[in-house]
Amino acid sequence: MTTDNCNWMTPPPASPELAGGVLSIDLAALADNWRFMAKKAAPAQCAATVKADAYGLGLEPAARALWSAGCRTFFVALPHEGAALRAILPEAVVYVLDGLLPGQAAFYGEHALRPALASLEEIAEWAEYCKTAEARLPAAVHADTGISRLGLSAADVRRLAARAGLLTSFRLTLVMSHLACGDEPGHEMNARQRARFDELRALLPDAPASLANSPGTFLGEGFTHGLVRPGIALYGGNPFSGRPNPMKPVVSLYAPILQVRNVEPGETVGYSATWTAARPTKLAILGLGYADGYLRSLSWPAHDGPAQVCIGGQYAPVVGRVSMDSITVDVTDVDADFAVRGMRAEVMGAHVTVDELAKWAGTIPYEILTSLGMRYTRLYSPAES
Ligand SMILES: *Cc1c(COP(=O)(O)O)cnc(C)c1O
Repeated sequence: MTTDNCNWMTPPPASPELAGGVLSIDLAALADNWRFMAKKAAPAQCAATVKADAYGLGLEPAARALWSAGCRTFFVALPHEGAALRAILPEAVVYVLDGLLPGQAAFYGEHALRPALASLEEIAEWAEYCKTAEARLPAAVHADTGISRLGLSAADVRRLAARAGLLTSFRLTLVMSHLACGDEPGHEMNARQRARFDELRALLPDAPASLANSPGTFLGEGFTHGLVRPGIALYGGNPFSGRPNPMKPVVSLYAPILQVRNVEPGETVGYSATWTAARPTKLAILGLGYADGYLRSLSWPAHDGPAQVCIGGQYAPVVGRVSMDSITVDVTDVDADFAVRGMRAEVMGAHVTVDELAKWAGTIPYEILTSLGMRYTRLYSPAES
């Protein structure tokens, strides 16, 4: 075995004909969604959350499109995501939401990343690093106001406030917290978290503040503070539960019809024979499966399902189990001119929304997007400049 020319992953083929699915990403819609959110947030600034490869869309094209639209501040989860973004956008402000692990401060310094410091230990380490670097380097302080995830407790914010020396050893550029129930506008947690946040940030030196993710941006003036940091809404996911989606779809996914076959009543489809034809049925086998992020929970009958694909403007239900590389749809009622080998079905896009897919899979659009696989041919429109 040699180590040269060793690729960890087979790169996806450049030609759609050689790939199972085609993933088409509308960068103009992404930019429009950012501008829409920026308008909602004004006079607060609008950042963009681009963690997890821009929610599966591709960090580089997404970040460039957002920068061109006017976005200047970005949030990632991991330090290496921050370094990747720094290489793409040398002038962007980049916050890293996971904060600091022991020994990581120098990496942040090298790549001009701002940690979202989530504990007194992390703050002490950042302060120590600033001393070594002889610079008051920028960072966010992340306070927890009720989601009980990352962030300083209220008691720790008070301890921090009492330590002026610690607070002056770095440049506090953002005080942030995160909402647990922003997607439910009427939830009492929202007002409670806002009140706690406003109380805690008042203890700290004056700095821009940020509480709102995508849904939080729609909660109104008291929630937008100085900066909002939407993710899912930019990528076309519905920021609300149970209300119409105001965002433009960004991601479309097409899968080829590999084979069309007819089965008699009584024949079954797929592993474990979970679906039985009740009539003479025409089936189409599509070339994408759970290895591509078409979640197995989309198998018939799915949640509130069945899941649907769109072929030639008509819907066809997914029948049987989702396999690793294929799904089967019932095309008996689809126009015969479209239900043919080599044609492509829309699996997600304008007719089958990411929100519908999420509902059928019993999950949220975030998981649909971040599960998108590596085997697709990815087409970005307009072309990357
Ligand atoms: C992921 C994340 C966001 C973005 O949330 P959306 O719901 O996708 O808008 C914002 N802030 C924090 C702390 C996050 O983890």
